Amino acid sequence: MTETTTTRALRRDAFIGGRHVSAAETFPVYDPSTGELLAEVARSTTAEVDLAVDAARKAFDGGWKRTTAAQRAKILRSVADAIAAHEEELALLESRDTGKPLRQARVDVGFAVRFFEYYASMVEAVFGHVLPASTDRITLAMREPYGVTGHIIPWNYPIGIGTRTIAPSLAAGNCVVLKPAEEAPLSCLRLAEIIHEAGVPAGVLNVVPGLGFEAGAALSGHPGIDRISFTGSVPVGIAVAQAAALNLVPADLELGGKSPNLVFADANLDLAADVVAQSILQNAGQTCSAGARLLVERKIHEEFVDKVATRFRRTTLGPGPQDPGMGPVISRKQQGRVLDYISLGREEGDLIVGGGVPDDERLAAGNFVEPTLFDGVPADARIAQEEIFGPVLTVTSFDDTDEAIRLANGTEYGLVAGVWTSHVGRAHRLIRDLRCGQVMVNTFSNGVELPFSGRKRSGYGVEKGWESLIAFTQVKGAVVMMTDD
Ligand code: NAD
Repeated sequence: MTETTTTRALRRDAFIGGRHVSAAETFPVYDPSTGELLAEVARSTTAEVDLAVDAARKAFDGGWKRTTAAQRAKILRSVADAIAAHEEELALLESRDTGKPLRQARVDVGFAVRFFEYYASMVEAVFGHVLPASTDRITLAMREPYGVTGHIIPWNYPIGIGTRTIAPSLAAGNCVVLKPAEEAPLSCLRLAEIIHEAGVPAGVLNVVPGLGFEAGAALSGHPGIDRISFTGSVPVGIAVAQAAALNLVPADLELGGKSPNLVFADANLDLAADVVAQSILQNAGQTCSAGARLLVERKIHEEFVDKVATRFRRTTLGPGPQDPGMGPVISRKQQGRVLDYISLGREEGDLIVGGGVPDDERLAAGNFVEPTLFDGVPADARIAQEEIFGPVLTVTSFDDTDEAIRLANGTEYGLVAGVWTSHVGRAHRLIRDLRCGQVMVNTFSNGVELPFSGRKRSGYGVEKGWESLIAFTQVKGAVVMMTDD
């Protein structure tokens, strides 16, 4: 392991203690739209993770833990401004690295800016309590940071999900070690430089790119980490929580989903069709909260599926930076996985649109999959139960609200749900009865303010909102006798 202060073209190092740090080996990162090599990236192992945790601990003890909320708020506002100033550069990098359409990458960078602004505004309002326990003692419940937090994130929204947990953790006064996904680590590495230049001291944010079973495992089992934030798949989440538990460290798990849109006959069907299609085609279906199941009231079934199918058919495919309707999926492996599910779907449902790779020579080198719609899918079919993480929508009909709720709750996941109805009482009933962390009525969008959490195998813990900031703090009780003896 050697330390350098510059990065070479197509070569990206880890970012530790405010410096670029190379590793003994690198791993390749490919452009999902073209298959071209984008970068060789430092393959961090235990040695680099140790260095990063050590740098974070020194930064915490060396000053960050003594900063006031007002000082951190000021720095976080500078970070928000710096990210906004690099919007186009970051969006293009994100689009190349993940394959997502450029406009979506711009939205993600906008979210990054908002996370820093939002937690900068909020951190000065974090306070503890004076408890009415005694008249001759002051009894306090105070909030303090954990220390060093470890963050492991997936490849689908590196900037969005990275900043979703970095911003509240830094705001709460912690120092951070982040491991981005090996498929798309570039924007987080650039972000670390921008955040450092904006005034976050060396060691307060460290980024260790690497493979899951090496850098990821080293971070989740590291005894120097005080809290883990994991976003990714169910099996890896369980492994991360087990590794953290051996150190008695809490881990928040944001895992997979198979989220439904429930469309009732009294909804605005054109608007619903636009959003239902977008909710699964956004990021080529690689969104944890994708609307992967369409549950539609039987009496509008044909009309509504027709509307969605029209939107699927007119979605253009192309390389992310060219801002197509939809980009590729992340890798050949993911493309193969999605195509396998589509083959299975041909047995389990009626194929209405798509069903394979696009018939276009220019896209052959990329990892493209057509927007694919299966109608008449039984609720217990594998394609209606398992997370495909690709642009594949299943349609199942229901006759009444009870059946809609039963179907919506009938998978092992519970992340989000979209509800489309003009009946206020029904909307509230669904908010109450759907077993998931977020319900969106006549929309499928949410903001940085709305707490985001899973039920069942979608995980536990909370991100976004006030709740996430508080979750990055611990409570400390103190009691002081009022006596001058
Ligand atoms: P993944 O679980 O394979 O990888 C996620 C991260 O974990 C990566 O950084 C990876 O390198 C790391 N990792 C892999 N093995 C590890 C190990 N043994 N120890 C520690 N770290 C390890 O997930 P993915 O394929 O990158 O992402 C897709 C999954 O993420 C989907 O299931 C999706 O639903 C989920 N996801 C959830 C949310 C959410 O907020 N709930 C958001 C986005 C994605």
